[in-house]
Amino acid sequence: MTRALYVHVPFCDKICAYCDFMRVVTHPKLIEDYLNALRRELESIPFSAYRTIYLGGGTPTALNDQQLDRLLSLLKPYASDVEEYTIEINPESLTPSKAALMRSYGINRASIGVQSFNDRELKLLHRGHQVTDIRRTLDTLIENGITNLSIDLIYGLPLQTLESFDRSLRLAMTLPIKHLSLYSLTIEPNSEFGRLNVKKMDDEREEDFYFHAIDVLRQHGFNQYEISNFTRCDPSQHNLTYWHYEEYRGIGPGAVSLIEGHRIENTKNLMDYFAGKFHASNEALSDQDQRDEFILMGLRVREGIALSRYRQRYGRDLLKDYPHTESLINQGLLELQDERLRATDRGYPLLLTLLGELLEH
Ligand code: SF4
Repeated sequence: MTRALYVHVPFCDKICAYCDFMRVVTHPKLIEDYLNALRRELESIPFSAYRTIYLGGGTPTALNDQQLDRLLSLLKPYASDVEEYTIEINPESLTPSKAALMRSYGINRASIGVQSFNDRELKLLHRGHQVTDIRRTLDTLIENGITNLSIDLIYGLPLQTLESFDRSLRLAMTLPIKHLSLYSLTIEPNSEFGRLNVKKMDDEREEDFYFHAIDVLRQHGFNQYEISNFTRCDPSQHNLTYWHYEEYRGIGPGAVSLIEGHRIENTKNLMDYFAGKFHASNEALSDQDQRDEFILMGLRVREGIALSRYRQRYGRDLLKDYPHTESLINQGLLELQDERLRATDRGYPLLLTLLGELLEH
């Protein structure tokens, strides 16, 4: 049974310079059409009481109070058993009344697009907030009873120095947050940075930023539990669904579902979506694809993969299915401990290369 629901809300008040996500500039008519189409999409899928719900975007808080109320009331029947109910927030668009509304519908976790604690960097990224908005946003959420807070930080920006990144990390650690996601800047061809031909920081320098972050966060008790995610003891339950390769349902334009061995991708074309042509593709994954993806996602998590889970799920032996495991263990990149396969400290930063070798058939 599908217990995780992702809802894509594709509206933003302004477009960030690096963004290549499925999003459009906020417009009342488009939001109206979106909410109507989302209601129809919800009616077209089997009912489930989800354990986790994640409202992502775009910027869900770009919706005004009335629109947000409508969105949350559409989702209310599906949230009766929800344990973790997350919303993505941009600091400039959160108001006390929106925070109160979220809480009244059971939202208990917020992921805040902070990105940097340097106003120059925020401006360069075309973010809509300034550093002074960040603390106010967290205070507003906490005053309204939403206390499971995560922030996103970005590194590898043009002009960013290790000093300014260090300052951002240390300021982040003064906030009442439980979770932090860390992303390196990618230059997407369809983003403004891509069109302006902005150059990415070189890989070696970017690695220095990444390892520095891991050190600083560790000093503050934030352990890396996934390649890009850190917490003291509150991992994202919703995202663990993806990494454990369990089923999830995605609704809204551009959302993706994994249901009964099928990957279903929703259309990114808003007009098609509004017309009820929700799905752009529906791919039946082969058994081999599913096993490969299970490994690919599972090794992203620090604790790795329990061999018993693989056995229960596929009725097969992981070590026999992936004969390269042994040589990666011998090279000290993977380790097998307590019947769990995981990347070693040395192998973890090389995960992509390592997975390439492991999944060779
Ligand atoms: S807020 Fe997020 S989705 Fe919206 S433009 Fe910026 S990066 Fe893209």
